[in-house]
Amino acid sequence: MQERLARLRRALGEAGIPAILVSKPENRRYLSGFTGSAGVLVISAAEALLLTDGRYVEQATQQAEGFTVIRHASDYRDTLGSALADRGLERLAFEQDVVTYGAYEGLRERLAGVTLLPREGLVEGLRAHKGDEELTRLRRAAAIADGALARTLASIRPGVKESEVALELEQAMRRLGAEGVSFETIIASGPRSALPHGIASDRVIQAGDLVVLDFGCRFQGYCSDITRTVVVGPPNPRQVELHALVLEAQQAAVKAARAGLQGRELDAVARRIITAAGYGEFFGHGLGHGVGLAVHEPPRASRESEQVLEDRMVVTIEPGVYLPGFGGVRIEDAVVLSADGCEVLTSSPRELIRL
Ligand code: ZN
Ligand code: ZN
Repeated sequence: MQERLARLRRALGEAGIPAILVSKPENRRYLSGFTGSAGVLVISAAEALLLTDGRYVEQATQQAEGFTVIRHASDYRDTLGSALADRGLERLAFEQDVVTYGAYEGLRERLAGVTLLPREGLVEGLRAHKGDEELTRLRRAAAIADGALARTLASIRPGVKESEVALELEQAMRRLGAEGVSFETIIASGPRSALPHGIASDRVIQAGDLVVLDFGCRFQGYCSDITRTVVVGPPNPRQVELHALVLEAQQAAVKAARAGLQGRELDAVARRIITAAGYGEFFGHGLGHGVGLAVHEPPRASRESEQVLEDRMVVTIEPGVYLPGFGGVRIEDAVVLSADGCEVLTSSPRELIRL
């Protein structure tokens, strides 16, 4: 944590910011190690404060090494105001993407004399590069998802609801040591598989359906995210063709993935293949996103992303083709980038699984 604080302080120094208020839960956890659900951090060059309520003072004291834990008044902004005044801090950055308008107004009211500086991505920029311990947790979260899929495939058959498959998957992940899901489980069968985000519904799976399973879990705070597409019974030629195309695009991108590429260059590797086959307009989302304490975080690998992918960044590679009325195919793995390639975190079979 000390190393993370040092990197944040360097970034604050470069940006000319004397202190930052951190309220996004993932950022709070990343910087302090505190896993409770309430509290804010104030990080300045000299100090690291954690303001929380009575329920969490003890836990925060145990978890947040190097932090001064302060039990705040019923409105934390009163305590924040006096903490800033005591230290002569007159300018405070805040996370503009999580502080609501109402919360901002409240800060302005109660922190009279403090200039509030809206900022974005300061801590996220640090989080994008994973340390060894983070990679260990990400690998474990990925292995749990792989294990759960292997245990669940047998339950996918005609007559079973998507929601029942989701429950099986989620139970299996919990049994394998997950804390919970990393996002709402997507089980999209038949025509619903053409919905890129078809949360499991009460639809009954039928023979001949393509079924997209997109799911993941949390292990010690870190997320996994994997997609596989299976077919119930013998596939028809178009299903086989579509799956082979998406797999080719996905594998080409995995092979090309390395530090030094722009997000859009990696996206283009997969998109070129799908477009050349005539399905470009049916691949309507970006290739991938970062994964860590949050299931969607920087970097992005999309058509627009000029962000350079760097060593120790994690990004998903998840091309998909979605044909309205017919169905869709998506295949997704998260990879850890390095200068000479990538490590693929999930290892479930990628060929078209026939159930
Ligand atoms: Zn996913
Ligand atoms: Zn994803």
